[in-house]
Amino acid sequence: MAYFSEICRICLCDNVRMYVLKKTGLENLYKTLTNSFMDEDEEPIIICFTCHARLIRCRTLQQQAIESNAILEQLLAGGSMVLSVPSIKTYKSPS
Ligand SMILES: [Zn+2]
Repeated sequence: MAYFSEICRICLCDNVRMYVLKKTGLENLYKTLTNSFMDEDEEPIIICFTCHARLIRCRTLQQQAIESNAILEQLLAGGSMVLSVPSIKTYKSPS
């Protein structure tokens, strides 16, 4: 049986390639998603390679939403209702 520190904190799988969350740059996103506070003295949070990829896609989605919101707020602040199509990136769904 795996020790707690050897299972993915997100999907609870084990026996796959793991990442230490703190070293991935995805710590803040994880905190936001789980609405959790992480104690520095706590065991390092481990995530599997699949959840690592899922978090990266999630971060991309988050960044796109933030950028689109900023564009729309700028347009609304300027009183314009016409969107400049080239300024909006098209989301590429994974196929
Ligand atoms: Zn996982």
